[in-house]
Amino acid sequence: MIGVVGTVYLVGAGPGDPGLITVRGAELLGRAGAVVHDNLSDRALLDLAPASAELHDVARGDGSGHTIGRERIAELLATLGGRHAVVVRLTGGDPFVFGYAGEELLRLRAAGIAWEIVPGVTSAVAAPAAAGIPVTHRRVARAVTFFGDHPDPERGAGGTDWSALASVPGTLVSLMGVGRLAEIAAALVAGGRAASTPAAVVRRGATPRQEVVVGTLGDIAERARERGVRPPAVLVVGEVVALRERIGWFEQRPLFGRAVLVTRPRAQAGGLGERLRELGADVVPAPVFRIVPPADPAPLREAAARLDGFDWVFLTSANGVDALFEVLDAAGRDGRAFGAARIAAIGPGTAAALRRRGVRADLVPRRFVAEGILEAFAGIDLSRARVLVWRAEGARDVLPEGLRAGGAVVAEVQAYRLADEPLDPKVAERIDAGGIDAAIFTSASTVRGLRRALGGERFSRLASRALLAAIGPVTADALRDCGAPVGVEAAEHTVGGVVDALVARLREGEA
Ligand code: SAH
Repeated sequence: MIGVVGTVYLVGAGPGDPGLITVRGAELLGRAGAVVHDNLSDRALLDLAPASAELHDVARGDGSGHTIGRERIAELLATLGGRHAVVVRLTGGDPFVFGYAGEELLRLRAAGIAWEIVPGVTSAVAAPAAAGIPVTHRRVARAVTFFGDHPDPERGAGGTDWSALASVPGTLVSLMGVGRLAEIAAALVAGGRAASTPAAVVRRGATPRQEVVVGTLGDIAERARERGVRPPAVLVVGEVVALRERIGWFEQRPLFGRAVLVTRPRAQAGGLGERLRELGADVVPAPVFRIVPPADPAPLREAAARLDGFDWVFLTSANGVDALFEVLDAAGRDGRAFGAARIAAIGPGTAAALRRRGVRADLVPRRFVAEGILEAFAGIDLSRARVLVWRAEGARDVLPEGLRAGGAVVAEVQAYRLADEPLDPKVAERIDAGGIDAAIFTSASTVRGLRRALGGERFSRLASRALLAAIGPVTADALRDCGAPVGVEAAEHTVGGVVDALVARLREGEA
C-alpha cells in the first residue's frame, strides 16, 4: 500500500501560554492529522487540533522533562508522516533555541518525508519580558547572549570559556541552568562580572504560574534556593533587570496567580477561558460534559425543515444555535429557513451565535434566564401563536410552560444532549491539594455535572476552599441545592458578567 506522503512541521509552541504560539503554528495545529508533543505547560494548545487528530505525548512519564528518545521519536514521526498530510511536532519556545527536535527531522529524509520549521517565541526572551525585563535596551544593554552550557564538576565546563562569556557586554540569559545556579553565578563572577550585577530568575515565565526572584549575581543562587525555584526557569544577568521595577506588568493583572476552574464543555470554553487568561488567571479546564446529538435526530430534522411554519422560534443557547445550523447545513439550507418566523434568543451569547450566521434575533430579554424571556413577552400577545422552543435535553420547563400559559401553541425540540465527560485526574489532584481558588459555573447543569464528576466528598472539599461563581440565580440555586456556598452571583447573566463579578469580589477580598 502506498501511504500518504506528509510533511512534518517542527512548530515552536512558545513559552507556555497558549496565546503565544504563532499564527502559522496555530493554523497547522488546526489541520494536523497527528501531533507529537513533550510536556506542555498548558494543554489548551492541543484543543486547536481537530478532535480526530492522533495525539502523542513523548515526554517520559517520570516528570524528568526528558523524552522517550530521539530515535524512537524519529521513527514515530516517519510513521505518522506516512499516514497524515500534516504532522505537527510541537516543542517548547523556539525549536532551534536549545531544542534538539531538529535532530529528529534529519532521520525523516530516508523515509522520503518532507519537513518545515515554524519558529516560536523563545522563553529566553518571553520569560524576561513577562517579568518586565527587556533583554536589550538602548541605553542599558545593546547586546544579549543566550547560553545553555553550565559548569558541571563531573563533566567539566563543557567547553564554555567563562571569562569570555562574563566579559561579553550586555545581558546574559541562561537556559536549563537552575539546577546549577550557584556554579553559574560563581563562574561568571570569577570570570569578571561584578557580584553586584542585578540578576533575576524567572520560573514558568509568561505563564499564569510565573515566579520571579530578583537579586544580584552574588546572591541570586541563595535567594532562588530559599524560594525553592525549580525548572523550568531562566537566569537573567545584567542592568536590564533593574527595569523590572518600572516595567513589571504581568503580576499586576487582576486574576494573576489565581487558579480558576472552568466547567464549560471544551468546544465552548474558548471565550470564557480566553477572557480569564487575559486577566492573568491560571485556567483549569474541567469540562463536565460534551455536547452530543440527540439519540433520535429525526425530530430535529423535521423541526428544522419547517421553521417558517412558526410565528416564533426560541433559541436558548449558543450550542442550540450551532446544532440548528448543522442540521440546516446538512440539508443544504441556511438562515433563510426561518422565513417570516421571528426569533427570540435567551441572551447575548445566543444572539452572537446567530449573528455569526448572519441572523439577527428579534428579541433578546433584559434578564438572561427563561423567566426573563417570559417577562419580555409580557406585552406581546401570544394567544394561538405557533412557537418552537429549541433547547437542550433535560432543560427546565419554565419557558415552554410559561409560553403555554400565555396561550401559545408550543412545540419543543431537543437540539442536543450533554454527555458526562470523565474528570482529568490532574484536576482532581489540584482540588485535593487545595490548589483551586475559584470555580465558574455557567449553568445549573455544570453544577450538577461537576458534582457527579467529583463525587460528593471532593465537591465539598472544593466548595469549602474555592470561591464559587454562578452566572445567574438558577445556577446559584443549583449550587445551594448541592450544599455549596455561592461566593459570587453575577448581576449580568453572561460570561463577561460572571468574570467581572469574580474580579470585583476578589478585589474586595484584598482590600
Ligand atoms: N526551545 C526552548 C528552550 C528549551 S531548553 C525555548 O526556546 O524556550 C528548556 C529550558 O528553557 C528550560 O530549562 C528553561 O531554562 C527554559 N524555559 C522553557 N520554558 C520556560 C518558561 N516558561 N519560563 C522560564 N524558562 C523556560
